[in-house]
Amino acid sequence: MKIAIAGAGIGGLAAALCLHEKGHEVRIFEAVESLQPLGVGINVMPHASGVLHGLGLGAPLDEMAIRTRAIEYRTRFGHLIQSDPRSVEAGFDYPQYSIHRGELQFLLLDTVCARLGRDAVVSGKALAGFTQDGGGVHVRFADGTAYDADLLIGAEGFRSKVRQQLHPGEGPAHYEGTMMWRGTSLQAPFGDGRTMFIAGDHDVKFVCYPISSRPARDGNALINWVAEVRHDRPRAADEADWTREGDRDFISEFLGFRMPDIDIPALLKSTRKITQYPMIDRDPLPWWTQGRVTLLGDAAHPMYPMGANGASQAIIDARALADSLTAQPGPEGLLAYEAVRRPVTTNVVLNNRKSGPERVLDIAAARIKGPADRIEDLISPAELEEVAASYRQVAGLLKKAV
Ligand SMILES: Cc1cc2nc3c(=O)[nH]c(=O)nc-3n(C[C@H](O)[C@H](O)[C@H](O)COP(=O)(O)OP(=O)(O)OC[C@H]3O[C@@H](n4cnc5c(N)ncnc54)[C@H](O)[C@@H]3O)c2cc1C
Repeated sequence: MKIAIAGAGIGGLAAALCLHEKGHEVRIFEAVESLQPLGVGINVMPHASGVLHGLGLGAPLDEMAIRTRAIEYRTRFGHLIQSDPRSVEAGFDYPQYSIHRGELQFLLLDTVCARLGRDAVVSGKALAGFTQDGGGVHVRFADGTAYDADLLIGAEGFRSKVRQQLHPGEGPAHYEGTMMWRGTSLQAPFGDGRTMFIAGDHDVKFVCYPISSRPARDGNALINWVAEVRHDRPRAADEADWTREGDRDFISEFLGFRMPDIDIPALLKSTRKITQYPMIDRDPLPWWTQGRVTLLGDAAHPMYPMGANGASQAIIDARALADSLTAQPGPEGLLAYEAVRRPVTTNVVLNNRKSGPERVLDIAAARIKGPADRIEDLISPAELEEVAASYRQVAGLLKKAV
């Protein structure tokens, strides 16, 4: 089939590779004139990294990313609340990777160009709308041109035009009051160089992990961090710009954070470029597919970044879409894809609104009031594991017993 994908983000590019592998003719239309490796760190969870390994990308991922050993949840005083292993050694079939979003996007883009040809990605083509009938879908672009295909996949992220046309009048983004500041800093590694930690509580939280294996080869680390502060005041949707420069006032919230292996205030103060982006999502949709058109990735299920699942769920969508279209070519395949993916991602979106696996931070914050308190006296490991296990199930992140 001739398949048009709108959006050359992580989801659109992964879908192109999976669909091409199944023999489809794929073209990706990207709004921006020239793609830049934007963003900072993201995580590819073991189940999504299995998709990328299946596409033959394991070696380049190992070359550029960090194989994350575990996600540690910590109090603001530096107590280890829980260590949730994410490695092959801990029983996953594939590793979790922590990686720079731009590096991952360009790995996928270069692979698409190598396998599908340079013409497969058309930039400067913002989808404006579509019409469809029994014979095909007619895609219209903002520059007045058009493209005819058998199927259209809307993978244009949070502000998807395909989603807007399918579900007009959805209203503004859902925002619960948390602003996120992000940055990266090249410095000495912390811990074992493969650990991600999330410290604090629902209102003031710090996420930190190394994202590149290249500096690691010279004994350094590119440390990615996200500082989250809940303000409880509404934000305009136009503040949701990934390149928006961040103010530095938030740093005062983290001066009291004390980790055993890294100086958080020093890390924040030494970071040169800081961006800010509100924590927003949208209510899950009752349906994604209309005839020859469906949604994928953030266009289908934008979510809070709890559990670091945004990129991973987009990559898993890509695999499921290609597999469903192989079993049932045409619009029925799109419905089959939606039947598999919409329930799972709906649960992840809703669970992330309740903090997902990061709920253990709030359990600890309610009981640990100072550096001298002992986790083992106040929280049972079984209570913490119940949170982690239930989220693994929601997100489809299954591991073997080891
Ligand atoms: C610039 C940018 C920076 C980001 N940085 C981070 C980050 O640092 N950390 C993080 O956790 N997540 C980040 N994200 C979000 C993260 O990439 C996604 O949550 C996740 O990877 C799912 O990806 P996606 O492909 O569904 O959507 P996205 O990654 O959002 O990709 C959507 C693509 O569609 C394009 N597009 C938009 N409108 C149209 C249109 N009308 N026609 C055609 N193309 C269109 C966009 O330019 C973009 O390339 C960023 C997203 C973007 C776009």
